[in-house]
Amino acid sequence: MVGDYLKMGNIRVLFLSLLFVSCHLQRKGDVLISNTNIIDIETGKVFKGDVLVKDSVILTISKPNTISFHDLQFIDGTDHYLIPGLWDMHVHIQDSTYLSMFLDYGVTGVRDMGGCVNIPTDGCESVCPEILNRWKVAMEEDLMNGPTLFIAGTQLSGTGWPTSLPVATREEVTNAFRQNLQDQVDFIKVYEEIPWESYQEIARLAKQHHLDFVGHVSEPFLLSDILDLGQKSIEHIREPLVYSFTDDPAELEDFMVADGYTEDDRQFVQPWIEDANNVIESFKKNQAWFTPTMAVQYARLRFQDTQWIAHPERKRMPASVNEGMNQHLMRMKNSRDYEGDLLWWQALTKLVKRFSNENIGLLAGSDAACEGGIPGYSLHEELILMVEEARLSPLGALQTAIINPCTYFGLKYNGKIQDGYCADLVLLKENPLENIRNIHSIKAVFKKGKVVRFAQENSSN
Ligand SMILES: [Zn+2]
Repeated sequence: MVGDYLKMGNIRVLFLSLLFVSCHLQRKGDVLISNTNIIDIETGKVFKGDVLVKDSVILTISKPNTISFHDLQFIDGTDHYLIPGLWDMHVHIQDSTYLSMFLDYGVTGVRDMGGCVNIPTDGCESVCPEILNRWKVAMEEDLMNGPTLFIAGTQLSGTGWPTSLPVATREEVTNAFRQNLQDQVDFIKVYEEIPWESYQEIARLAKQHHLDFVGHVSEPFLLSDILDLGQKSIEHIREPLVYSFTDDPAELEDFMVADGYTEDDRQFVQPWIEDANNVIESFKKNQAWFTPTMAVQYARLRFQDTQWIAHPERKRMPASVNEGMNQHLMRMKNSRDYEGDLLWWQALTKLVKRFSNENIGLLAGSDAACEGGIPGYSLHEELILMVEEARLSPLGALQTAIINPCTYFGLKYNGKIQDGYCADLVLLKENPLENIRNIHSIKAVFKKGKVVRFAQENSSN
């Protein structure tokens, strides 16, 4: 137990010296969360304790009701549950309001998956890296509240999309890297239709510059080859990946029959079918990650979900993003391929379950605010879909949003509630291990030790 190693004598000395420090330095933002249920997201164990936060870190954890201070912000955690802050590993930030929306839902870290637009559009691309970097600095200097940000900057793409960087030739790859390095990105995002020679060059330059490259998969390549090149994470479900949802040939046959595959279709996808089991091994061998973005895939089936469409949080989002959602829903409504979307959705749920069983690293990512995603709220939905549709345990789902992102980024002092760890925390009224929907029951959110959201008693979940 975390509290056990602190002997009483040491605690008294430590407390006296802390009192001295806090009285004399008058530091603001020191918080005591007392008598709360602390969840260890690695093991699922729950233990009671007092959590003392000083500046931006967890200073100490002790047995319940053993810390009493006058100069601290006191939060009664009795019957509440404390977890480390959540991460959304696939977002596109188009407006500064997203930053506070993330925090309101306990999302204290995000991986922005890039783009470069100067004004909000349909929600599927991010604002340019210059703006995101400006916000990053403001947050570091405590002038702005928001989640920890890792950014992709402008995407590398073979599609000719106007706000992406072209990578058809070796020279274009060199230029794209130069641009991204100038923009001080944290990693490289690849999109689709990238020629194989360019892919190889991207892998080489990424290694040379000590940057990860992540993103979509370019057809017609085999996913196992792309993973062997070193792509660190794969986003969304696409053709080179979907056939890995099962290792049962009969189940695969049912899928293809139900989706109306012709002989030509079967021939076209045959290389990916043959690669399907290699994909599983390649993910493991290369320690690559998969971000299933279930929430955005599920949005294809939601054109009649009035509660979701009229969610009150949409009022906080730019009008163009809401309009983008309406157009997306209209397209889905008019689509004759609802059955196909449903089949792919079912395949995705099985794929997520299979990857989880195979211990392949999963990352929770919502793709908000693309196609109707709501910053913060959609990450909760991603976790709920992982449990209720893909049949992960609540603990397994929470790990994809807490432990796995910290491992992915190599963050040594995030993702756990322990002495010396970063005080990005979420206090819940109900236990999320009993029901993942309790992730909605937020009482308080702490970013670097500062209370950034506090729900009053009579407010709803
Ligand atoms: Zn995206």
